[in-house]
Amino acid sequence: MRIPENHPRAESLRIRERLVECLRRGIVVEQGLIAHGRGEAFDYLLGERTTIYAREAIRASVAMMLLADNPVISVNGNVACLCAGDVVRLASLINARIEVNLFYRSYEREKAIEMLLKEHGASMVYGVGDRASMSIPELMSERRRVDRDGIYSADVVLVPLEDGDRTEALVRMGKKVVAVDLNPLSRTAKSATITIVDNITRAMPLMVETAKWLKDEPRDRLNEILRSFSNARNLEASLAVIRGSVDDMYVEREREGREGGR
Ligand code: ATP
Ligand code: MG
Repeated sequence: MRIPENHPRAESLRIRERLVECLRRGIVVEQGLIAHGRGEAFDYLLGERTTIYAREAIRASVAMMLLADNPVISVNGNVACLCAGDVVRLASLINARIEVNLFYRSYEREKAIEMLLKEHGASMVYGVGDRASMSIPELMSERRRVDRDGIYSADVVLVPLEDGDRTEALVRMGKKVVAVDLNPLSRTAKSATITIVDNITRAMPLMVETAKWLKDEPRDRLNEILRSFSNARNLEASLAVIRGSVDDMYVEREREGREGGR
């Protein structure tokens, strides 16, 4: 479908088209499309732009991943579809492993995602097939299965688009978790160590840029960035942006009402 350039939601419609195409190619599942829709609603309220608070969270999370011994980036269907190239670029800049981890697991889909990541330059992809032989304790879904050399032994895990149960379970295992989630009220957002409240399509390229200029910084400087960051405060600030945009909508409606009554 051709999307008119001047459509107010042109970018959002292009992303939808991309997800539908990935559904046809067996990378994304139907449930992934619905999950994306829930995210879109929050993005609408955020003004479909990266806030300064998301930028702060991005800086802190890149610092945390650079300080990590074993950082891992967890990839599901939507993440692979929307930012495979940036996942590979970020992994190489911060020296992280990439693991495929699916809620609706199938070997075919794991292979399709692995292939897509390899097309974008990944040399090794963890978590595919029998590699995912370890379990995250207390989790029931197929998503509990992880790679011994990937998420299982990671100290910091980046989970762009994660479910609350799993985020909580990873934190209970003692891991530091970085989540990208447009909903500052989700369990994922609340339980992650650092939450980036932004669309992954905007956040991932920014993480790559941030990694380029932070990767040669001394560890002291990275620690300082981390120390000055508070996830609770950052989430509050993102929520305030949403509250502010809802307030603006009320003001706008009242103004229109008054003008209409004149
Ligand atoms: P939780 O399990 O954390 O309580 P949830 O059950 O409401 O949250 P899930 O269905 O597990 O949500 O995951 C969907 C969430 O993923 C959406 O609410 C949204 O915030 C987030 N999401 C979806 N697409 C994107 C995207 N492109 N960028 C960032 N976040 C997204
Ligand atoms: Mg959920």
